[in-house]
Parts: sequence; structure tokens; C-alpha cells
Amino acid sequence: MPAPSRSRHPSAASVRWWDRRPGRLAVVVLALLTAMATPALAQDALPQAVTTEREMVVTANPLATAAGEKVLRTGGTAADAYVAVQAVLGLVEPQSSGLGGGAFMVWHDGTSGETTTYDAREKAPMSATEDRFAGLGFVQAWQSGLSAGVPGTPMLMEEVHEAHGRLPWQRLFTDGLRLAQGGFELTQRTSDQVAGLLANNTSCSDRLYFRDPVAFDYFTNGSETDCAAKPAGTTMRNKDYADTLKLLRNDGADGFYTGHLAESIAEAVQTDPNIPGDMTTADLAAYDVVEREPVCEDYRGHEVCGMGPPSSGALAVGQILGILEHFDLGDDPLGVEAVHLFSQAGRLAFADRNLYVADTDFVTVPVEGMLDEAYLASRAALITDMDMGTALPGTPPGEFDPTAPQPASTENGTSHVSIVDRWGNAVSVTTTIESSFGNGVMVPDGGFLLNNELTDFSFAATAADGTPIANRVEPEKRPRSSMSPTIMFDESGELELVTGSPGGSRIIGYTAQSIINVVDFGLDPQEAINVPHHQNRNGSTELEAPIPGVTWDYDVDALRAALQARGHNVTVGSLESGLSLVEVVDDGLVGGADHRRDGAVGGR
Ligand code: GLU
Repeated sequence: MPAPSRSRHPSAASVRWWDRRPGRLAVVVLALLTAMATPALAQDALPQAVTTEREMVVTANPLATAAGEKVLRTGGTAADAYVAVQAVLGLVEPQSSGLGGGAFMVWHDGTSGETTTYDAREKAPMSATEDRFAGLGFVQAWQSGLSAGVPGTPMLMEEVHEAHGRLPWQRLFTDGLRLAQGGFELTQRTSDQVAGLLANNTSCSDRLYFRDPVAFDYFTNGSETDCAAKPAGTTMRNKDYADTLKLLRNDGADGFYTGHLAESIAEAVQTDPNIPGDMTTADLAAYDVVEREPVCEDYRGHEVCGMGPPSSGALAVGQILGILEHFDLGDDPLGVEAVHLFSQAGRLAFADRNLYVADTDFVTVPVEGMLDEAYLASRAALITDMDMGTALPGTPPGEFDPTAPQPASTENGTSHVSIVDRWGNAVSVTTTIESSFGNGVMVPDGGFLLNNELTDFSFAATAADGTPIANRVEPEKRPRSSMSPTIMFDESGELELVTGSPGGSRIIGYTAQSIINVVDFGLDPQEAINVPHHQNRNGSTELEAPIPGVTWDYDVDALRAALQARGHNVTVGSLESGLSLVEVVDDGLVGGADHRRDGAVGGR
């Protein structure tokens, strides 16, 4: 076996970051020189990887990254940094994640070498029944109290801090509090997303989106005659959010799950102006974060570990990689062969995912069988030079409950955070309130939005023939997810890559593609993000239209034609990932952030 190319997380003494990839200074100098010589070229210059010596945090927002960076610099662990990052994200990127939502985290302990996962997925209330969404379209269900699951994020913050933190809990809310009280600038992205939803309303007074007066006042001009989205650059203050952070800071997660805030959450759900929901204070008091074994798959000598059920993330990413391992992807990340093979592996993985994956506390999922080597070899053997059309699920070894495939449903929103600290601990966490602005209701006195995660359940409980669908609604069950927080290790088990993305069910493809871009095509984390996306969720083959200044430019028409010649039904459009990558190299860390969103890398 060849010697590992990457060492254990570098100690400060062994750092020689200038050896490996261009560092931050080199990048800045290069960019300046380029700007002076060729202004047009500089305008098109793509984001460059950032190199640091010993710690790094990548999030979807510069203020959140800065909060995490500060915690790392002052001796905090990756767990501490996550708490600070989450407190800020819920304020400055409120449409994507927050205290009213849930998350999945993969944690790697740099000292013991152990890896574990935390399931902080929202749970259905105890009174939920399988006909919860019967007769409802997605929009009606989304914009209602029925879609709100019991939040998991505040408890995750507390649990990972207790297990892996070093700094006092109280210190981790400094940035969140300062920004909530002192104000921060509304981003273009948030403002645009508010406007996008408002455009679906009939009028300012007759509105489904931002039906809740608290959210309406906070995000829009707030009158019955002028309800435009607040413009980017508006100074936002959120006193209620500051109060909630103080409650968390002083009383811990208990302050959230019991007492007046819990009452306020339950009431907001039960008095929803569209369709009231049924979450109670007892549901909140009973919430639990579950620590689960990671689900891991070998890929060309690397071990790729992620979140098992109720997420389909690690299983689907693992199946895609396990199938691709049977092929040579060539040397062009956008070559027709690579794109074709990736699409076929995606089809096969999604066929299995849609049939088998759900919360394993309720249904039996053939987790090991789905990643069984011989089984994946048999799946890979189904791939030819032509598009296979709709893939059927296979029969993996192992036990599973009788189940019918879940019809396709809508998913989007969310944020991904990747962190490595000076001890070599790593956090990969995907955090969500499901759709843009969750279910649209801001908890009065809470300053945060509620999630609509329960729309990730199958709306139908059974197939036409009565066979139950694994991911049907059941009391206290967690809905299936696509979130794929991932940590990859090299052949000697050393930490190598932290990755993950938002993007609904496209998360699986974004994450798997980031891995092959690093492993198969040798790209650095930023290049891996800058490559335009392509994927197939067992439907059409989706290609990302290039974005000037953000993604590589490429001849999308030529690729489309080449795929069509192989029988693909191709669509071209926006594939808006939010990848956050940290790679451990011999002498430091290399990070990449997604400029399709507001991603930012920090550290030193
Ligand atoms: N709710 C989705 C899931 O858990 C994530 C939504 C998104 O990323 O946009 O898979």
C-alpha cells in the first residue's frame, strides 16, 4: 500500500503551508497583478481556495464565518464554533436555518480518532397521524402549522457543546447578540427571497406567504398598501431573537424546550392563520437528539462517512460512489463519460432511496445491504453507454419492511457548515428549516422562524395497492432527509475532507460531485465547488448553466447534445448548491466556499 499522501491534522510546528497550494497572500498578490494587467480577465476571475495553517470555518454567510473564526481563534473547538455560527446564521440567513429548525451533524474527534453523528431532525408531534397531509397540495401544507416539526437545533447546540466544547457556553452567543441588538445589513439574497415569495400573493392584505404578521413586519415594508420586501442593505435589528439567545445562554436548551418560549411556539403552531397545527408543549419537552453510528463507504481508498437514516444522505452518496468505483471517470469533470456515469449512478441511488429510506426508529431499512459491495457491483453492471431511463429499485441483502416507492416531492432551503479546529476535530453539519423561510411563521417574542420539515414526509401513506410507504407520517417520527453532511478519511484513517451542501434532494448530487472532483479529478476545494453541477435524480439529467465569475465556463450546448445522443433527456438551468469544503493537506487546511450563495471561508 502506498504511503498516505496526507498526514494527520498538522500540528502548529509542522506547518509549511507555502509548500502545497497557493496561500492567501499568494492569491491576493496574483489577483492584484492580474487585475493590473488584464482588467477584463480579473472581472471573470473565479473564487480561489483559501489556505490556513491550523483552523478553518466555512459557512454560507460572512458574518457567521467571522463568528466561528473568532471562537476558533480564542481557543474554541469546532463544536464551540458551531454554536456561535448557528446563533448568527439563524439571524443573518434566517430563510435557511435557525433555532426553529433541525440539523444533522457528523463529528470527528481529532484526539480519539472516533467519528459519530448527531440526529437533531425535527420530530412529528405525538398526535400526528398518517393522513396528516391527505388532500393537501405542497403549498397549502408548507404554509401551515401542520408542517412544523419539533425543532432540534437548540438541543444539538447544547449537546455538542457539552460533549465537545471547551469555551464557556455563555461566551458563544456574543456575536449573535451583538448583531441582533446592534443590527446587521439585510443581504441581497434574503431580500430577493422575500420578494420571490411575496410575488405569489394576491395582494398585501390577501396573502398566504408572510401571512404571519410578525414575519410580515420583520421582512417587508409591512403595510397593507406597501408590502415590498425590505431592500438589501436595510439595517435589521431583532430584539426578540436577542432575548431568545439570552434565554439559551442563561438557561441552556431547557429555556427553549420548556417555559414561556415553548408555550409561545406551541401557540404559534396551533393558531396558524392558514391551517392550525397540533404541536404542544409536551412535544417540545419530549424532544431528544439521537447520537447514531455514521454510515461509511469506501471510495477508491478513501472512507466517506455521513449521516444515516432518517437521512438518505450517506446511503445515497455512498451508493453513487460505490457504483462509480467500478468505472474510470477520465480526466475531465465535465466530460460526457463522467457526466453520463454520474447520472446513471444517481438514478440507481435515487431508486433505492425512494423505496427504502425512512426513520429507522420506525421502519427497518437495509442500511448495510444498500452499501454491500456485491450488491453495488450488480447495480453498476446495469450501466451501459446509453441512458438507462427510469431506474428500478434493487433488492439489497438484509431485512426491510414491505414498502412502496415514495412519489417525488419538493425540498429546498438550508445551510451547510464545515469546521476543522486546531486539535483536528471536525464538524460537518447541515442545518435547515426546510423551505425558504420555513413555514413562514415567526414565533412571537422568539424572533425566529418555524420549520416546515414535516413536508419531507410522504404525503401519501400507502401506494395504490395499499402497501405502506416507509416515509409516511407517524407520531414522533422524523421525516426522511437528503442532507448529507460528510467527512472523508484517507487510507490510514486520517481526516481528509469535510463537505456538504443545502439544496433539497439535489444535496446528494452536490455532495457526491464535490467528492469526485477532489478524489478523481484532483481539484482543490474551491475548484471542486466552481465546477458546474450535473446530476440525475432518476428523472432528467440536469446540467447547470455556467455563471460568469462563479463557475467554470463550458460549452453546455455541446455537452447537452452529446448526452442526448446517448438517450438522455437533458434540462439546463440553475443548480444552486451551497457547498462548504475544508480539505486537510500535509501542511495546513484548504477551504472553498460557494459563491452561488454568500459563502465565506475563515480561519488562520
Ligand atoms: N428539508 C430538506 C432535507 O432535509 C433540506 C432542504 C434543503 O436543503 O433545501 O433534505
